[in-house]
Amino acid sequence: MSEFKRTLITTALPYANGPIHIGHLAGVYVPADIYARYLRLKNEDVILIGGSDEHGVPITLKANREGVSPQNIVDRYHKMIRESFEKLGISFDVYSRTTTKIHHETASEFFKKLLGKGKFIEKTSEQYYDEENRQFLADRYIVGTCPKCGYENAYGDQCESCGSSLSPSELINPKSMISGNKPVLKNTKHWYLPLDQYESWLREWILEGHREWKPNVYGQCKSWIDSGLQPRAVTRDLNWGVPVPVDDAEGKVLYVWFDAPIGYISATKELTDDWEKYWKDKQTRMIHFIGKDNIVFHCIIFPCMLKAEGTYNLPDNVPANEFLNLENDKISTSRNWAVWLHEYIEEFSGKEDVLKYVLTANAPETKDNDFTWKDFQNRNNNELVAVLGNFVNRTIVLTNKYFGGEVPPRGELSSYDKTTLKEITRIKNETEESLDHFRFREAQKNAMDLARLGNKYLADEEPWKIFKNNPDRVETIINICMQITANLTIILEPFLPFSMEKLRTFLNFEKQDWQKLGSHDLLTQGHKVKKPELLFEKIEDKVILAQLQKLLDIKKANELEGMTAKPVKKSIGLDNFGDMDIRTGTVLEAEKVVKTKKLLKLKIDTGIDKRIVVSGIAEYYKPEDLIGRQVSVIVNLEPKKLRGIESHGMILCAENFDGTLSIVAPDQEVKNGSEIK
Ligand SMILES: [Zn+2]
Repeated sequence: MSEFKRTLITTALPYANGPIHIGHLAGVYVPADIYARYLRLKNEDVILIGGSDEHGVPITLKANREGVSPQNIVDRYHKMIRESFEKLGISFDVYSRTTTKIHHETASEFFKKLLGKGKFIEKTSEQYYDEENRQFLADRYIVGTCPKCGYENAYGDQCESCGSSLSPSELINPKSMISGNKPVLKNTKHWYLPLDQYESWLREWILEGHREWKPNVYGQCKSWIDSGLQPRAVTRDLNWGVPVPVDDAEGKVLYVWFDAPIGYISATKELTDDWEKYWKDKQTRMIHFIGKDNIVFHCIIFPCMLKAEGTYNLPDNVPANEFLNLENDKISTSRNWAVWLHEYIEEFSGKEDVLKYVLTANAPETKDNDFTWKDFQNRNNNELVAVLGNFVNRTIVLTNKYFGGEVPPRGELSSYDKTTLKEITRIKNETEESLDHFRFREAQKNAMDLARLGNKYLADEEPWKIFKNNPDRVETIINICMQITANLTIILEPFLPFSMEKLRTFLNFEKQDWQKLGSHDLLTQGHKVKKPELLFEKIEDKVILAQLQKLLDIKKANELEGMTAKPVKKSIGLDNFGDMDIRTGTVLEAEKVVKTKKLLKLKIDTGIDKRIVVSGIAEYYKPEDLIGRQVSVIVNLEPKKLRGIESHGMILCAENFDGTLSIVAPDQEVKNGSEIK
């Protein structure tokens, strides 16, 4: 690693058709931010690159659905994503987007260079075309019946019912999603990157040359290469994206997977005129932070593009993560099953570090992992509050109480003191080792060991018990606690940047380089500290319960949406229906039937008489809200005794899919006794 002079860190470009959730954060942005902050603390030359991916079919589809322009969609989400990253403290040196002029130019030039070098093959193929709108249809713009399961709304590339991958030509009864018409097949020309020609080079570069890559990444690359690579189209027929910079290519744009990674280059250009140093100098190391769904693009396809171009560096490492689940269920944007960053930032203002801490503690580094609100609460209360917060608070409070806020001198050291001080160096070494190998979960745990060390030392020494008889000894104990606290501000800076800034304010202490970590004299005798405030707050049960309720509500809404109507019952004659005598009536009195949850006793003016009806709607209507309301009553139903009350009829209700009841009544007032037929 030492042969490199600088590091370029890229983070997967989030797709600008929705907000950021905890899965994105845990997989990509939080670990990338920790790594960038760590290298900056070591005074290394490092830049952290990010930006929104703003092209591609899902964006144009969303724009169609909402009746707005694609630009409108990406403007909305780019702003939202950029702002929420900033508030969480993801320390991008530049956060760009792919609709900028600089990106369009960079991507065009890249394509032209490859075209000029003869790196593409051209192929003409038949593709579905919408004659009414005169445009070729991307796979997602075609729906039809799935040949595998018979689902009628399968997309041209995938059936969302059975999960099969499809091609548009396999769909039965294909339809254009734009016009609804049957599309026709028409010839269209596209440019392809012949990945198959790079196979032996990829074997050598990855399978031989990068055995140190994470097993999940290396394994996926091997399986892609072993299963045989195919030429891949780099252009599409679409009117949203980077236009193909060739004369006869009207209506064609660069395929989004081709233009998006070039976005890393454009963003670097936006950041600095000296961008080539980060992309082409052999002493620069490039690291891609991504989720596992992006491995093939960053380990195989983008490197083939860079190799074909010829002047760029290849990634040195791609520490891709697995997926994070939420409360034991897959995170899903379409089902709204996620913790959204912009909502978290609003609801947990001031607790940005807590989210980063919990996501790192549970990072899906080697396998899929789970985020639960209970675990979030436990880690905050039992680790950040009870260990870290408690230790630094007691240390600063005792310094103020016994020594007027001045760091006391350190006298003769006991053997326990010596072992404790030595531990700081061991913890530093282990944390560094983990960070250098992208094991952030382990790194954070190691770093927190320093707080555990301090907490245990303070609890074992109990200075408050000996101050009266042995104040000199207390000076030494507090001095050591102060040194540990000062070291914490360095070792935890990459993980908890807002909190460490706060802690440095309490300590009246400047930000230190990583190299200072392990020193026993960060705070000199007589250094004046301030009065502390709480570093972390306890999170109460009711806060967690509210979040769980929110998820339960989403789950219920999803279930409702997924339910379908019951099949029709057997046919009846008009006479059978006519036998039922249904009238409009007005509720005169209403009260709950005692000792029941569901029953209301109603007195109803049916226009014929005033009668008692017992109805099972008490969970959905308050008695006082019903008085004066019109309802529909079956008046010739045989009387029935319910809880000792004789009920003379039944109120008509619609039963929703989840079992909730809703009274059916005329939509404007009619005379009581009017027949419903
Ligand atoms: Zn299917």
